[in-house]
Amino acid sequence: MARLVMKFGGTSVADIDRIRNVTRHVKREVDAGHDVAVVVSAMSGTTDQLVAWCEAALQTRRIFDAREYDAVLATGEQVTAGLLAITLQDMDVNARSWLGWQLPILTSNVHTSARILEINGAEIVKRFAERREVAVIAGFQGLHKETGRITTLGRGGSDTSAVAVAAAIRADRCDIYTDVDGVYTADPRVVPRAKRLAKIAFEEMLELASLGAKVMQVRSVELGMVHNVRIFVRSSFDRPEDVDPHGIPPGTLICDEEEIVEQQTVTGIAFSRDEAQISVREVEDKPGVAAAIFIPLAEANINVDMIVQNVSPDGKTTDLTFTVPAADYQRSLDVITKAKKTIGFKRLDGATDVAKISVIGIGMRSHAGVAAQAFQALAERAINIRAITTSEIKFSLLIDAAFTELAVRTLHSLYGLDQATA
Ligand code: ASP
Ligand code: MG
Repeated sequence: MARLVMKFGGTSVADIDRIRNVTRHVKREVDAGHDVAVVVSAMSGTTDQLVAWCEAALQTRRIFDAREYDAVLATGEQVTAGLLAITLQDMDVNARSWLGWQLPILTSNVHTSARILEINGAEIVKRFAERREVAVIAGFQGLHKETGRITTLGRGGSDTSAVAVAAAIRADRCDIYTDVDGVYTADPRVVPRAKRLAKIAFEEMLELASLGAKVMQVRSVELGMVHNVRIFVRSSFDRPEDVDPHGIPPGTLICDEEEIVEQQTVTGIAFSRDEAQISVREVEDKPGVAAAIFIPLAEANINVDMIVQNVSPDGKTTDLTFTVPAADYQRSLDVITKAKKTIGFKRLDGATDVAKISVIGIGMRSHAGVAAQAFQALAERAINIRAITTSEIKFSLLIDAAFTELAVRTLHSLYGLDQATA
């Protein structure tokens, strides 16, 4: 017998039929003797609709009262939690719905992207023992204790709710049921030979999620890492009755690296086309110049990613190149242009037709020359590298966007990630 958290995203609860399907997944685990807490998202499209209504409701002011925005957005999950409790009861499974304020799930006061501070799981655990009752918890929402207001955790926040609940009730595993059957070595739409990973370390998943792999909210992986919650990404589209509740179904386990026996050097390749490059030419090579560039950008809330600066040949001037989200490109140019006097530069260049390719793997820590192999392989394909950054378990290359797919596939083969063809 195990204690499980089962999380179902928006597409898995999109309508009553899909909710019935979820019910059968839950019933299977309950019948196998497991204690189950379910965390649900809103039906797919619902949260977007709620956001649109909030926007339409504003006529004269330009910004929301975030407390009311949260009051509206949190309703989506209330509907699915109630509906799932009804369908479970309808199949003779003892079940009760729980909203964030009822448990409670206490959060910070940052409305629209609150952080979970504490969850009281005592009542749920008590009911497991006394009534074998399934807890159906509304994801994405919580309560700020001091003000008594409902908060939400940011888009995709139900993942974080699920991992936090798993930590609070000391679950053996947090199953994330979603519309893909796991985490892949690369996006299968770009690399048809990508394969599903059986296991991936928290740190690697954190990199992948931050680089835009949409499987899980970044914060949920962070939380899993801190509390060592084993997270299992699996498909909700399998026929519930075909799954053996005691076996290991297809999926990817996100876990501590200690649990991964056959560690590859490289685990996955990610890419992003949403990057833009900005080069500030011939800035003076003296203290304070980088601050003069990056402080105004930070104040404008622009997230700078790669930063490359050369050592000047004569100690006089140098170039400074960095990347920003493509959506912030024009705004960044404006910010830099406005600060031209304090920065002091000759010219400003930029490009939006660039892509960032990232190679991730904790095995890199102990292997030399991993990045060098990539440089060689890309050179053989005549792909030019504009900028390079590295960290302990990752390196990223900025290239021309036109070569994105070729580069990703080349590196995928290079590091032995291609699936053997049958
Ligand atoms: N319903 C929320 C959203 O769409 C939270 C979630 O689904 O994780 O962002
Ligand atoms: Mg999601």
